[in-house]
Amino acid sequence: MNYLSTRGAGPVGLDTALRRGIAEDGGLFLPDELPQFGIDDFDGAESIESIAVRLLTPFFAESDLQDSVTDIVAETYGFEVPSVKVNSAHGEFSILELFHGPTAAFKDVGAGFLAACLSRLEGDVSRPLTILVATSGDTGGAVAAAFDQRPGMRVAVLFPEGRVSPRQEHQLCCWSDNVLSLIVQGTFDDCQSMVKGAMSDAVLTREHRFSSANSINIGRLLPQSSYYAAASLQHFRRTGNKPSFIIPTGNLGNGFACVLARAMGLPIGEIVFATNENRTIADYFASNSWQPRSSLQTLASAMDVGDPSNMERLRRLLGDAESLRQTLSVISVSDAEIEATIRQLHTTSGMAICPHTATAVHTYNAMPDSDRRGADWICVATAHPAKFESIVEPLIGVTVPLPEELALLLSRPASSQLIGPEVASLAAALS
Ligand SMILES: *Cc1c(COP(=O)(O)O)cnc(C)c1O
Repeated sequence: MNYLSTRGAGPVGLDTALRRGIAEDGGLFLPDELPQFGIDDFDGAESIESIAVRLLTPFFAESDLQDSVTDIVAETYGFEVPSVKVNSAHGEFSILELFHGPTAAFKDVGAGFLAACLSRLEGDVSRPLTILVATSGDTGGAVAAAFDQRPGMRVAVLFPEGRVSPRQEHQLCCWSDNVLSLIVQGTFDDCQSMVKGAMSDAVLTREHRFSSANSINIGRLLPQSSYYAAASLQHFRRTGNKPSFIIPTGNLGNGFACVLARAMGLPIGEIVFATNENRTIADYFASNSWQPRSSLQTLASAMDVGDPSNMERLRRLLGDAESLRQTLSVISVSDAEIEATIRQLHTTSGMAICPHTATAVHTYNAMPDSDRRGADWICVATAHPAKFESIVEPLIGVTVPLPEELALLLSRPASSQLIGPEVASLAAALS
């Protein structure tokens, strides 16, 4: 299968697209043609793993990895992705829990898959590939967990001093020797420019083999379609109805993966993106004018994105705002609405949800009655509430029990280095 840049460059094969992350013209890779599936193409595939293998195999045509799809998928999903029924004051819906991976957020799926692919393509014990990640939270932990202890691979995680919660910091610092945890005396933007600086530094790039694992890599996007495929097929087989999804959205990677699954023929009804107060996508849908801006800080911090990069893919696949509005919708949710939703769902259903998941549940609650009853709704839960305990616990008045995977991480010893906000400090830490 060939992959083309959203800006025209290419075609390249999957392996090159995975290695490069971003196309040479600055665009994002997309397959030149989407495979098409009927429901019966998945006959006999019950588990999420076996559905994922059928869905993803065509994307590996002519790749060096084409005989490893089953193993790659097995390494991606070492955990359940349950769909849980909720009886709320507003009606009955389901929550698709994407947070049972090693760092309790959906990013474990994409990071795990990319790590399984890249370590097979690029792992070299004599000259490790060094993955550089700047993070303000969830991404760094998922990437560190995915590459932890993989031979021939190394990760440097950079995050800003004092800007992540103690629990989050622990998750960024509790890994084996091949993960370097670097606390930067600066901001998230400093971390990002250090990564960019190192990757374009002539001396450093001779010394190290660098790569990145950011969310625009096609290797993080594709596997995310597989949980939508599995959830929609399982629902359709049980009820004969296509479920509709409400997806907490920031950079639009998770939401776009659902759009891809529907475009490939999976039984998915409506798709609604729930954003926080960062209104770039919502304003585009309403006004036809694309106006990226700086991000606002909200309670759903992993969705604080003012210039969502995957919009470039969405527009390439489906066209501009006018066509997008035909098959997709967007709701922007305020911090006050997030808080009220967390409180209310706990009161009525005894269920704790994270602030990101709350944007989806609010969207369900706020729909006109007829829309709510007119479809089988699945709200996507992107992180475990215990990851955001300082927001959730005061609202619901009880402690959120730690899930096993997080308890395990928090019991491991942590270590890190504090470095200055310059490329030279990063270079010294890497040597
Ligand atoms: C990253 C993240 C999101 C946003 O996902 P996108 O793919 O960037 O839209 C939502 N919730 C959580 C918990 C996240 O970590």
